[in-house]
Amino acid sequence: MSAHQIPVLVVGGGAAGLAAALTLGRYGIETVLVEKRTVPSTRPRATVASTRSMELIRSWGLEAAVRAQSVDADVWLWECATLISADAGRAHAVGYPSREQAALVSPAAPAVVAQDRLETVLREHLATLPTVRVEAGVEVASVRSLPDGVHVTTGDGRSLWTRYVVGADGAHSTVRRQLGVTVHGGDAGAVSGIQAVVHAPLLPLLGPRLYGLYSVTETPGLFLPAGPDDRWVYAPAVEPGVAAPRPHQIIERLRRGAGLAHLPVHLESLRAFRSPAQLAERFRDGDVFLAGDAAHRVTPRGGTGMNIALQGGADLAWKLAWVLAGWAGPELLDTYEAERRPVAEHVVARSLDPDGSRRSVRDELAVDLGPRLSHVALPDGRSSLDLLGPGWTVFAGPAADASARALAAGRAGSAPVTVHTLDALSARALGLSPDAALVARPDGVPGALQARAAVREATAIATAA
Ligand SMILES: Cc1cc2nc3c(=O)[nH]c(=O)nc-3n(C[C@H](O)[C@H](O)[C@H](O)COP(=O)(O)OP(=O)(O)OC[C@H]3O[C@@H](n4cnc5c(N)ncnc54)[C@H](O)[C@@H]3O)c2cc1C
Repeated sequence: MSAHQIPVLVVGGGAAGLAAALTLGRYGIETVLVEKRTVPSTRPRATVASTRSMELIRSWGLEAAVRAQSVDADVWLWECATLISADAGRAHAVGYPSREQAALVSPAAPAVVAQDRLETVLREHLATLPTVRVEAGVEVASVRSLPDGVHVTTGDGRSLWTRYVVGADGAHSTVRRQLGVTVHGGDAGAVSGIQAVVHAPLLPLLGPRLYGLYSVTETPGLFLPAGPDDRWVYAPAVEPGVAAPRPHQIIERLRRGAGLAHLPVHLESLRAFRSPAQLAERFRDGDVFLAGDAAHRVTPRGGTGMNIALQGGADLAWKLAWVLAGWAGPELLDTYEAERRPVAEHVVARSLDPDGSRRSVRDELAVDLGPRLSHVALPDGRSSLDLLGPGWTVFAGPAADASARALAAGRAGSAPVTVHTLDALSARALGLSPDAALVARPDGVPGALQARAAVREATAIATAA
């Protein structure tokens, strides 16, 4: 077989595919992303980027661009009779930290941002990466995983030979079907509803402290901010078996929920949805990997689908980049499913739980952040997470010269190592004694903690402060 035409083909330009292509592109890996749509979706779907998602977005240099599209709000559910009487309501935790809580654990609070606008920011960044080519209007038709690569055909009759494929082609994944990977979980527990996207002057009704979800009881339904320009998702509660309300009825209900009979409302779009929770039996077949909804689909309960799609796409991509760069052996790729499946199992189960929307911040934040090292605010205003590089990053206490050298030497020959020597206070906040060091992967997951006793044969390494 001839040499591969492309190191990585990403199928699908949703949250998972964009995160994967963007991460690969930032590593300088030649990547082609094919997306069957010619025009991007304008459906908001998700309206929240989680703490960990925002940390990734920050690491891509896109936090300000995403915040510009977001509403400055806490991702808590505010329950009230109507929006106009919102100050008589009360807050419920939905598993996301408030901005004050987030500041304790992360440099990046969750953002109330519509998925379509977030994806626009990611797409625009992707277009600036010289090693990534995006082909819109191209549908993958067949995928065959062979011992030394993957053969792919497209709907327009092209044939591609690629080293790896990222199947990020959504819930009805062609890639998954082509691999013969079945999904567990049928339609039982599926959540149905209506997503009306509207423009209406609601933000001025709500006072200075805004929330990511408003549940109104006067005429039951949810209001979710979907843009700083008073764009909203309105999801009226629909009884099972009852015919879906017509557009004018939805606007009428929205007005009652807002508490303003003459509220001007512009209906941007209206869609019914039905979302089951499903998990692929495996996330990989040879050199083809499934990411996002192709691997795990959740109901909207808990607001996690887009977030784990984005995070999984990024996770798979740095691992592919390391292997393609020769920084790690192919066994690194086994960690993708090993690390992402438990997260997917958790959110699938949560999304099937009728009470799954309301969860404690403590429990769900732990799942969202995973095992990455702690955020520590450094004296120069950066976060410890901001120091993470594309290879290994060593965090060393002020007296940990030998520890740091030993850790870095232990990683020599693989990915590049960057060493950061911390002041005593920052080291302590990271759980390090002054003479200890730890090494972390690019996603912040600690690789090893170097204790004093283990430091003997340190070799010289390049040190970046
Ligand atoms: C009504 C609704 C509300 C939701 N609310 C939330 C929420 O509050 N929070 C949250 O986190 N998530 C939410 N989600 C889930 C979230 O939208 C999905 O989990 C997320 O979009 C998954 O991203 P993805 O990239 O895996 O797939 P997708 O976004 O589906 O993207 C897949 C892409 O692949 C393309 N494609 C498909 N087949 C091919 C092919 N053969 N060749 C080339 N391209 C192809 C598609 O056109 C599409 O652009 C919601 C979903 C719905 C429907």
